[in-house]
Amino acid sequence: MTKLSQEERLTFYKSKEWRQTREVILKRDKFECQECKRNGKVTTGERLDVDHLLELEDYPELALEPTNLETKCVTCHNKKHKRFMKKENKWDDEKW
Ligand SMILES: [Zn+2]
Repeated sequence: MTKLSQEERLTFYKSKEWRQTREVILKRDKFECQECKRNGKVTTGERLDVDHLLELEDYPELALEPTNLETKCVTCHNKKHKRFMKKENKWDDEKW
């Protein structure tokens, strides 16, 4: 499997395809953080990101796949990445 370099990822995030897909996902999720929503909270006001559930770096083929994309607030997004940095088998312990 090909891994994307940081440079390739930066290029991707600047691409027209990503910008368009990002807009579609934000609208689909009604500009609400989906992670907060699962916790019974509505977060719309702050800056929202569109997150790759399976990391872009490892799954470039899912880069524009709507089922792999989710709206997250900056807080949840940061939390996810901090958590993953500590773990090697990041998906093995997910129960959902
Ligand atoms: Zn959130």
